[in-house]
Amino acid sequence: ATADGTLRVAIVGLGWWSRERVLPALANLENCTATVGVSGSSAKRERAVADWPSVEHGLSYDEFAAGEAVDAYDAVYVCTPNALHLPHVETAAEFGKAVLCEKPMEASVERAERLVAACEDVPLMVGYRMQTDRAARSVRQLVREGVVGDPVTVHGHMSQPIAEMFDDPSHWRLDPDLAGPGASVTDLGVYPINTSRFVLDADPEAVTAATWSGGGEWFERVPDERAGFQLAFPDGVTALCSVSQNAYKTAEFRVVGTAGEIRMRPGFFGAQENELFLSTPAGETSVTYEPADQMRELFCFFADRVLGEKAIPADGEHGLVDMRVVEAVYDAAEDGTRHQF
Ligand code: NDP
Repeated sequence: ATADGTLRVAIVGLGWWSRERVLPALANLENCTATVGVSGSSAKRERAVADWPSVEHGLSYDEFAAGEAVDAYDAVYVCTPNALHLPHVETAAEFGKAVLCEKPMEASVERAERLVAACEDVPLMVGYRMQTDRAARSVRQLVREGVVGDPVTVHGHMSQPIAEMFDDPSHWRLDPDLAGPGASVTDLGVYPINTSRFVLDADPEAVTAATWSGGGEWFERVPDERAGFQLAFPDGVTALCSVSQNAYKTAEFRVVGTAGEIRMRPGFFGAQENELFLSTPAGETSVTYEPADQMRELFCFFADRVLGEKAIPADGEHGLVDMRVVEAVYDAAEDGTRHQF
């Protein structure tokens, strides 16, 4: 860290999320700053150094792996396609750096387990931005306080039209070698899965699922253009989740309890205002959360934990549960049976 206690981060992978959401968020943060940009593109590296005063070094992946500018950063943020998280996390851990790894942690349970093992001696956090989001934290708090009674059912939905977003059927999210077993559950399903776990403060015991793909140029390589799945939590609490990479862009998260209901809209998309509706026999109230910079909140939390040497809730073991659930969703959809953990 710097003398004034700021965590210095190397940003690995300068894709749209790193460039448009992470670098701007870090430019505006007191306890965390970006000092290194790692990219396969020399133009992007140069651009990052030119555009962001705190970014002093632009490295290629080989230079990063070789330890160049290793003293210029304390932590590494990995934001590459899923199946390329592991090698960069291994490099970071080898140099003793704290790791913030994007979701999903990796492309398979096996690779995610290797990632967690690599970080045995360094702090590891998975980038679940809903866990530091104010609206989602309020939902958790209301459930904890019993405001809706005992939770009975959770509904989580997230969908987007990937073809309109990326204009490229060879995009890595549709390539199993880079994304993992599918396109919707791996990329979007993680939001309802992890947010359900976070809000209920529990882990699922079993999974049933159905997936569907229309094939064609965009979805021929993935089983889940769309997916619906059900997570059985302890005490008979059920999470019903649906995701699609080829639908209207929308999301919602809802908790129904024995004595009320909470809805969070639009739920999982960052950079939009979130509205919470609380309905109980006493009536309905709503709170609007102005658009928050979720990546700012996420990095602020990460830096606070690492600098303060405090425990990290969304650590590797926490992330592995999601990876196992995602894998079980695909297995359950394929063989049509209920998968028990
Ligand atoms: P992008 O495709 O925009 O960026 C990924 C970057 O990885 C590329 O720009 C490239 O950067 C680098 N890269 C290295 N090898 C490859 C390769 N073979 N194919 C494609 N890119 C490669 O992806 P995103 O930024 O959308 O996603 C990156 C990660 O972040 C994923 O794990 C994703 O799930 C996660 N994510 C999380 C979000 C959240 O809300 N938490 C939102 C968006 C993404 P370069 O040219 O610099 O080498």
